Amino acid sequence: MVTLDVQALKASVSLREVAERYTSIKGKPGNGPCPMCGGVDRFFLHSDREHWSCRKCYDKPGDVLDLIQAVEGCDFPTACARLGQDLESFKRTTTAAGARQKLERPRPWKEDPHWIEDAAAFVARSQAHIEKDKTAQDYLLNRGLSMETIRAYGIGSTGEKGHCIVIPWFLACGTLTAIKYRLLKPFTPRDKEKPIRFFSYEGSDPILFGAHLAGRSDTLVLVEGEMNAMSLYQCMEGTADVLSTGSEANRSMIPTVAQQYKHKLLWYDSAEKALKNSAGIESAILMRSPCDMDANTLLQNMGEKELKRLIDLKLGRVEAPSLPFHGEYVGSAYEQRVNDAYDVAADQNDQARKKALQAFDLECRKGPAFALTYIAQHGDPLA
Ligand SMILES: [Zn+2]
Repeated sequence: MVTLDVQALKASVSLREVAERYTSIKGKPGNGPCPMCGGVDRFFLHSDREHWSCRKCYDKPGDVLDLIQAVEGCDFPTACARLGQDLESFKRTTTAAGARQKLERPRPWKEDPHWIEDAAAFVARSQAHIEKDKTAQDYLLNRGLSMETIRAYGIGSTGEKGHCIVIPWFLACGTLTAIKYRLLKPFTPRDKEKPIRFFSYEGSDPILFGAHLAGRSDTLVLVEGEMNAMSLYQCMEGTADVLSTGSEANRSMIPTVAQQYKHKLLWYDSAEKALKNSAGIESAILMRSPCDMDANTLLQNMGEKELKRLIDLKLGRVEAPSLPFHGEYVGSAYEQRVNDAYDVAADQNDQARKKALQAFDLECRKGPAFALTYIAQHGDPLA
């Protein structure tokens, strides 16, 4: 279990102080040349002193971690790690290369009443289709999903665009905003190496998958991918709301959604992604796929009961055999494990492993952000 206290990390520095490492700020709350795109005063600090924007290249309110990422063109864990280091080590870069272009998605479900009408009619057609489509049903049943789950999510199938599973995305209010197709037989285009599995209904705006089934629990489990969300929904039996951001969803709303929950578990394929997506979420429990197995693979291999136990363990609802790393390193069971592993490596005279564990131990002592960055870059030394 890994808890990254992003709020505390951000509170440890002043945004103005960090911004002044990159550009000159005048006045209060303050403005100046943008460290990404230049100008004279288009970069400005908001009156809350915790957010900034640029009138040309960054129209959303960014926080201190967003600033480091935008200027340095680095990822979230690196920005977290930077915050813990001496600010003097910040290098000033004035290229626009690190500036993030935030493109607005089209939102036909909001702007075009015909889109919802047409899309909903297609979903209804595909739902009628799957009731008679044994192949599509077997495809999902073989992945451990029940017909009950399939119907709860309004899953359908179609032969209109190749043989596909049709996956609708609803808002909490039931409004349809996106439809994804999952091909039963993925194909590999001649010029590509990886097979194509998914595509979207034109004009789709994937926001959150499974929102129409949420609101039953004070606990949120956030996962990647629709199959994983459905797998966890099925095994949690209402003891947690399960939502998915898919692979390309609008992640900026995750903190707003997460705020409504008392307990939050974020399960991502990699520690790096979990860290990145936990930005702005207080006391989120981060989890990565164990041995690269996602929730659906685990459902198929462990069954519903064991998968639920795994989640309950991560949420601290059931007794764990040993204390995992949760941010308090010194004196923790995790510290003991790292050090025991070091002793074993020392006994075996394994110099490389000794060195790796030493480096990891140091990062752990600096804080969870450093430990997670290390794990993201080198893998988990205890795995
Ligand atoms: Zn700018």
